[in-house]
Amino acid sequence: MDEAVGIMGGTFDPVHFGHLVAAEEARLRFGLARVVFVPNGRPPHKKDYRVTAAERRYEMAFLATAGNPGFETSRIELDREGPSYAVDTVAAFRRRFGARARLYFITGADAMLEYTTWREPQQLAGMCEFIAAMRPGYDARHLADALGEDLMERCRVLRIPGVDISSTELRRRAASGESLRYFTPPAVAQYIKQHRLYADPDAGGLAAG
Ligand code: ATP
Ligand code: MG
Repeated sequence: MDEAVGIMGGTFDPVHFGHLVAAEEARLRFGLARVVFVPNGRPPHKKDYRVTAAERRYEMAFLATAGNPGFETSRIELDREGPSYAVDTVAAFRRRFGARARLYFITGADAMLEYTTWREPQQLAGMCEFIAAMRPGYDARHLADALGEDLMERCRVLRIPGVDISSTELRRRAASGESLRYFTPPAVAQYIKQHRLYADPDAGGLAAG
């Protein structure tokens, strides 16, 4: 059978158990051979705060996924110039895995609701299908309204055990010196501490990509 691959895109600033649960549930429920985490090089849509250097976000995703043989982490968006668009990333995965592979772009429902603002949404939908994980507070009916019938046909809704965790909340906790235990894997919590990420505005160092 042709390989089925999940592509989990995100800023991952930092990666947390919400991302990992969504990816693992997608992997198991859709029989994906693997899920590739793809940290954005330069997220086109995050403008309200200073995003941590891509290399640091990549390393955290790498640490978080290392223990799962069904997961991998890709540098593809780090090594590409310019803003990171899903359409370019999926095109690259299409080249890597071949025309017959089944590609699924995995997102949370909040991200999927904004799908029509993504770059070249129709072209992207022609190259992959979508798995929208129902994050707490989101409703599949809103998704059908936002996407319309044709796009909704390309989108599978995935119910996951709700993990109401966000990177925003982790950054807030880290900044105020609160524990990240049980919010993200120990190696990631350790990395954040060691590099003093989120502790103060200049500590992330390597200028936001
Ligand atoms: P931020 O708070 O900075 O927006 P985030 O927690 O939303 O961060 P992102 O890197 O923006 O994390 O999200 C990457 C992808 O993971 C998106 O598709 C998002 O919808 C999904 N996602 C994030 N958190 C969860 C969660 N708790 N449950 C399910 N999906 C999630
Ligand atoms: Mg988000």
